[in-house]
Amino acid sequence: KRTVLVSASQFLFLSTSRFASTLVIAEHEGGVIKAPSVSAVVAAKSLGGDTPISLLLAGSGPSLHEAASHAASCYPSISKVLVADSDKFKNPLAEPWAKLVHLVQQKGDYSHIVAASNSFGKNVLPRAAALLNVSPITDVIGISESHTFVRPIYAGNALCTVRYTGANPCMLTIRSTSFPVPKNSVDSKSNEAPISQVDLSTFDEDLGRSRYVSHTSQDTERPDLGNARIVITGGRGLKSAENFKMIEKLANKLGAAVGATRAAVDAGFVPNDLQVGQTGKIVAPELYMAFGVSGAIQHLAGMIDSKVIVAVNKDEDAPIFQVADYGLVGDLFEVIPELLEKLPEK
Ligand code: FAD
Repeated sequence: KRTVLVSASQFLFLSTSRFASTLVIAEHEGGVIKAPSVSAVVAAKSLGGDTPISLLLAGSGPSLHEAASHAASCYPSISKVLVADSDKFKNPLAEPWAKLVHLVQQKGDYSHIVAASNSFGKNVLPRAAALLNVSPITDVIGISESHTFVRPIYAGNALCTVRYTGANPCMLTIRSTSFPVPKNSVDSKSNEAPISQVDLSTFDEDLGRSRYVSHTSQDTERPDLGNARIVITGGRGLKSAENFKMIEKLANKLGAAVGATRAAVDAGFVPNDLQVGQTGKIVAPELYMAFGVSGAIQHLAGMIDSKVIVAVNKDEDAPIFQVADYGLVGDLFEVIPELLEKLPEK
């Protein structure tokens, strides 16, 4: 018999890496995993090279099983797909989802649980963390090692490095814009991860005071704001909902998503799901065009990571010009019609 002596820190590393395993809470639509959840898988992968990653999907009907097969066969980093098939998960209510995560954690004893930092993840993960009696780390934009993370604070003005020292599981929401999906990561039929059903016989169905009322979604062919390659944003400078339609026309011509500032949303020009910023969506498209946007710090917090920023504002001192790659001091009511005229039809 041979005894290998290791230091305390080596022992801690060996013992945590030996038992490390990650659960990714995923959303699906139309038989595929939604893009923010794929970014959560990318983040999970960077927690540690060979750590097994299980993907949790819930819902009911054929599209759930299609999504499970798609995930199991197309993402090489996924080692297992767990499926909770029940009418209880038909609607995206956070309460049953949090209880599901709790149940799955009790059986799987994962070291990490990861979800995207979108309205779904922000809704479910803190509730699940409370049930598991741990403190989640939200809005992670960088992973230095399995328990050390970078997250923005003060509306993105400072970055904070946090080390998680609590009990398992370490629960994270990640910003999908910080974990882009590499082009070669979706490889049709490159993987054969097992798919297993979650045993729901002990699932607690009591939803407390919550009840599902309805779900409305915009019927638009435009790309999703959170993942669009181009975002065209309008601010208070547009002056009315009627004028805001110019932004929509421009977005249609460029195949872009439409964004808005909080001032534009508060003024009723557009619904609040288009808001970009600290209290709206975080975007990082290849091209971000801002018209009539002053560039308040709370707005910049949601778009500062865009690759190329173009701003049109009639005030040459507008703060948006400090972050813009291309700035045009001009009247948007002249610039947008000219762009609409000169840009070719899509
Ligand atoms: P304004 O600041 O009024 O700017 C309008 C701009 O349009 C001006 O710069 C003006 O020069 C220009 N303009 C006017 N007419 C024309 C024209 N004809 N041609 C060209 N330019 C023109 N804001 C967000 O956007 N997202 C958030 O998530 C968010 N969260 C917040 C959270 C908190 C806690 C707080 C306190 C605020 C938050 N805000 C947020 C609000 C933020 O502080 C600003 O009030 C808001 O971003 C301003 O929007 P705006 O740029 O459209 O309007």
